Amino acid sequence: VWRDAYKSLLQQLTDLEKEAACVQVFCRTRPPADEAASSICEITSQSNQIAILDPGRRGTSSRRTYSFDRVFDPSASGSQEDVFGSVRTACGAVLRGRSLCVFAYGMTGAGKTHTMTGTSEEPGLTPRALDFIFQEIDAARRRSPDIKIRASVSVLEVYCEQIRNLLDDIPTTEARGPHGTADGGASSSSGLRNRTQNTTIPEWTEVEVQDAKEALQLMQKGSSRRAVEATLCNANSSRSHCLSCLTVTVEEGSEGPKTGRLALVDLAGSERMYKSGVDGRALKEGAYINRSISALGDVIEAVASKQPHVPFRNSKLTLLLQDLLTHSARLVMIVHVSTRPEDYHETLHSLQWASRFKGADFGAVGVRARRDEAEITKLRAALAKANEEIQT
Ligand code: ADP
Ligand code: MG
Repeated sequence: VWRDAYKSLLQQLTDLEKEAACVQVFCRTRPPADEAASSICEITSQSNQIAILDPGRRGTSSRRTYSFDRVFDPSASGSQEDVFGSVRTACGAVLRGRSLCVFAYGMTGAGKTHTMTGTSEEPGLTPRALDFIFQEIDAARRRSPDIKIRASVSVLEVYCEQIRNLLDDIPTTEARGPHGTADGGASSSSGLRNRTQNTTIPEWTEVEVQDAKEALQLMQKGSSRRAVEATLCNANSSRSHCLSCLTVTVEEGSEGPKTGRLALVDLAGSERMYKSGVDGRALKEGAYINRSISALGDVIEAVASKQPHVPFRNSKLTLLLQDLLTHSARLVMIVHVSTRPEDYHETLHSLQWASRFKGADFGAVGVRARRDEAEITKLRAALAKANEEIQT
């Protein structure tokens, strides 16, 4: 009886995940360095709104308000755990063949890497998501001993419209980990893909991993190799987009294998170049970054408003995403903004950039997403109960 209940609940969950909103936009502010620092933002987290005030103009006329699917208030609900909590259910769906792509957008110093990677005291989305997905993998293995699950990691960067494989030196003949497979731990994705003129993606390495720790180590290794250039904004400014992916393939019973992916993208700083005011190379990098971020915006807008044509081919970043994501992917954009008066123009620009994704039914999508989220949480609890009953 419990096995049947389990199956039916799982089906409901899978269906619901298929229906769930495909694009969500969140906003996160970096807490000020000291409590006394003045802030240009006012956050109303209950209504998921953020207001921005022009520090150069007094009065309410300079106030603009933006709303998002979630606004994280650093003083209340903006912890690393809260941020992960908002994508937890979508991470679980990776085992059922759905993909999730999370982007961190914002000017350098706004907190993108803090959200994605975090620190050892405050781990970010990457370690939390990997821990969670591998817990789910372990639970699935305990539940059905004949299930076959493979997980692999790849890390890529896009720098000046060139794609670089950041794990290219991982040996492909050597089996990795205690359960290393005979055909070697690492394999390359299906070789050089030839697409129509000039839109070729080089091959990249997918390294098979056994647990969350191994996956995290590879992602850290890959991202430490990003092209890094100091700008006036921040000594660790990154001028490239970094994509870390976990691919999970599940095969159970007579059904064919299902592949889902978690793609975590730490985007290059979105600041306009006058601020960093440096040499020709930095200007060229900045031009590439602006162009690819604008192409990404076009893609997300097309997906959010369910347009039949999605312009993936306008940049290497979006071309890569087309390859990494299936059409059943869910996209989460986390917009990071600074609350410092001197960053007013960048913050305004970021909020405006993100608010263009509000298609006609953006609000409705947000409401539906929250309802689905609640429903998914309920179903997951019922599934865990059924699972316990099956074990006893
Ligand atoms: P970015 O990657 O966008 O350039 P970082 O993530 O490196 O920015 O953040 C810049 C600095 O601010 C780092 O020292 C980081 O630890 C800190 N920081 C950013 N966001 C937060 C946050 N939400 N809570 C605490 N510290 C943060
Ligand atoms: Mg960073």
